[in-house]
Amino acid sequence: MSLLIKNAQIVNADKKEKQKQDIFIDRGQIQQIAPSLKVKAGKTIDAEGLLVLPGLIDIHVHLRTPGQEYKEDLESGSQAAVKGGFTSMMCMPNTRPVIDNAMIVEGILNESRRLGLCHIVPIGSITRGQKDQELVDMFDLKKAGCLALSDDGKSVVNSQLMRRAIEYAKMVDILLIQHCEDPLISAGGAMNEGVTSTMLGIKPDPYISESIIVSRDIELVNFLGGRVHFAHMSCRRSVELIRQAKKQGIPVTAEACPHHFALTEDAVRSFDTHTKMNPPLRTADDVEAIKEGLKDGTIDLIVTDHAPHSKEDKEVSFEQAPFGIIGLETSLALTITELVKPGILNWEQVVDKMSTSQARIAGMESKGVIAEGYDADITLIDPDLEWEVTPEDTASKSKNSPFFGTKLTGRVQTTIFGGRVVYQDKLKLVAAR
Ligand SMILES: [Zn+2]
Repeated sequence: MSLLIKNAQIVNADKKEKQKQDIFIDRGQIQQIAPSLKVKAGKTIDAEGLLVLPGLIDIHVHLRTPGQEYKEDLESGSQAAVKGGFTSMMCMPNTRPVIDNAMIVEGILNESRRLGLCHIVPIGSITRGQKDQELVDMFDLKKAGCLALSDDGKSVVNSQLMRRAIEYAKMVDILLIQHCEDPLISAGGAMNEGVTSTMLGIKPDPYISESIIVSRDIELVNFLGGRVHFAHMSCRRSVELIRQAKKQGIPVTAEACPHHFALTEDAVRSFDTHTKMNPPLRTADDVEAIKEGLKDGTIDLIVTDHAPHSKEDKEVSFEQAPFGIIGLETSLALTITELVKPGILNWEQVVDKMSTSQARIAGMESKGVIAEGYDADITLIDPDLEWEVTPEDTASKSKNSPFFGTKLTGRVQTTIFGGRVVYQDKLKLVAAR
């Protein structure tokens, strides 16, 4: 079915259009963009008063498939995604079993195509079973459809193995995403090391457990060529190291999560296990550095690290609780509230960090831009609408968020994936097929 979007205020990463345009969509692609188009379409949407962005992309989510579908599955994860404005996402391999072979990759790809709500690309692990002992068959995983590999949840700690991984990945031309954490230093810590952790008596994880791996991998990439993408940067020192590496032309990229620019370690004083994540919430100074890094381009992407956990999982003591929070449905609004409203990022930068650069870094051609010939993945948002985050209004199977009760600005109105409306606010989810 064809679709016409009227009066679209289009924002691309390189330009916010001055004039409103009409967008004609057919056969899953953007066919024509021009003011006042005179075409017949199966369905027409009036975008008056809304911003029209390329469908959001998140290359760092946990969908818990296979093995822990009680926390999330591909369907509930897709519903949360489209509700948050996402049309593409890459899911991490720390599942049970680990996504380390072509069969599991193909299974996830088939199921997500059947659901048809959102483009899902599985991330394979870097080492077999994420055991940090031997490399996966990268050729095989790439052939099966992976665009990236990661041992996320933990680092590739073995430096020799990481060296081989960078060399091999360069040959195969696949992205490596490093979860930066030296486990001998983090040593099971549950929050940022500092005065607050001492006061609260919670086992600490100092920021150097992150920056040491960032530093090592910058050295490896500088020595070997290839490239590495750093997951969920949380501290000032990491931002400084990446800024310097980029100045020297070393091809590393980085991402940050909304909770690392919206919250500080002070939130842990509540002992709420929804403030426990890995890497942990850091200090106000670290938050400042993350914002600076996003503003000046040191940090390329905003990702959610969407990490669903059931109520039972999180209803334990702080130190026993698993790491992570859900994020797909609050990421855009937290970005608008914390970064756009205070003037830290403009809309073009938001589009760049939440769509265009995600597509570029992951290698999703034909996505991340609103232009003729690109995939018709489009997100319509009301940038000024204020709303309160509540568990009742959350599509994800898990409700582990520290943001319930928080008032945010900016809300997704309509999500279009492959030329079909897959989500409309108030109307609930529109059946995909
Ligand atoms: Zn993660």
